[in-house]
Amino acid sequence: MSDPYTWLDQALKTLHRADWYRRPQAIAGLPGPIVEIDGRSLLNFASNDYLGLAGHPALIAAATEAIAHEGTGSTGSRLITGHRDRHHQLEQAIADLKQTEDAVVFSSGYLANLGTIAALVGPRDGIFSDRDNHASLLSGIKLSGAKAYSYHRHDLTELRELLEVYGDRHRRRLIVTDSVFSMDGDVCPLPQLLDLAAEFDAMTLVDEAHATGVLGRTGAGAVEALGCTGRPLVQVGTLSKALGSLGGYVAGSRSLIDYLRNRASTWIYTTGLSPADTAAAIAALDLVRTEPERRAQLHTHANYLRTELAEAIATLDLPPSYHVLPSESPIICITVPNPATVLQIGSALREGGILAGAIRPPTVPTSRIRFTVRADHSREHCDRAIALLREAVVPSGD
Ligand SMILES: *Cc1c(COP(=O)(O)O)cnc(C)c1O
Repeated sequence: MSDPYTWLDQALKTLHRADWYRRPQAIAGLPGPIVEIDGRSLLNFASNDYLGLAGHPALIAAATEAIAHEGTGSTGSRLITGHRDRHHQLEQAIADLKQTEDAVVFSSGYLANLGTIAALVGPRDGIFSDRDNHASLLSGIKLSGAKAYSYHRHDLTELRELLEVYGDRHRRRLIVTDSVFSMDGDVCPLPQLLDLAAEFDAMTLVDEAHATGVLGRTGAGAVEALGCTGRPLVQVGTLSKALGSLGGYVAGSRSLIDYLRNRASTWIYTTGLSPADTAAAIAALDLVRTEPERRAQLHTHANYLRTELAEAIATLDLPPSYHVLPSESPIICITVPNPATVLQIGSALREGGILAGAIRPPTVPTSRIRFTVRADHSREHCDRAIALLREAVVPSGD
């Protein structure tokens, strides 16, 4: 008798052989600049908790209070029994931050992207997508059934050609892009994308997952930082990175949000955000507004780490495959020649007490060490990361 599951073990072996195999590691204690893994304290340069809010007493208190009054689960979808005043409050707070007419929260950023893209376009439509967009955008594109055209990162000339050649074959056009590219740290050319969108009668969806709370004068994101507030846009993002909670959102015009509440299946057919997550996100948005110094601190550390790492790499006389990628965010990456090397460097950093991302294919085309900075890091934390990286990066001849 044949076993229809034997291929799984084969597939796992292949993953191991390619150094692509991954598994989760348990972190103990509150989220913070120092985390505990396997009983060891590590300096955390791998979290998305940019402002240090996930373990903040105000978020913990808000979530605890919400559970005490409204329980642990929201018990139903938003259109049936899962809607509370606090969801409305959170959506208002997001719309206020983004300066949009309205906003809607989803159970995750991933689901926000799936539901929004599939609601806005279908098989008769065309999507113009940056090749390096986040996996959730790519899944949304597939789910929509629209014809997808991809352009190389930031390549506005290629995008213009695609829009010229294929644009009017479609009923609707949607340009889709990350604002901060999560595995690199650079920012999309949003003003130019919006000009092209206007010229070719296209909608634009921008994913602000790594920019919300981080970029812009008020923390509204890359849209604000790049002077695009108020332009016609579909802004998607997450509550689970700088905002320290869980969930996703879409912000935009009243009609857009109204339409999504009626048509986004990942919003309609899933349980509403829990009271605790909702309350924590509201508390986080309060801190984003009232404590801009967190953001300032974050950028001070990020600028320092970026400059010093580039300096360190330049002085080490390494092959050109090692370099610091261009970044305008707290995500700072150093490319390395191959997955095996990135694993070695990752373990050496960890041995020395630094937790950083060792990012490999298929997540990215080229392996890289990825540091993410937090507002609650100190200058000494950054100096330790730099010193240790210098030791960990040993020229291997390739
Ligand atoms: C993290 C991330 C998401 C997914 O958000 P979740 O709330 O974690 O599901 C979507 N897009 C980008 C660019 C991200 O980095």
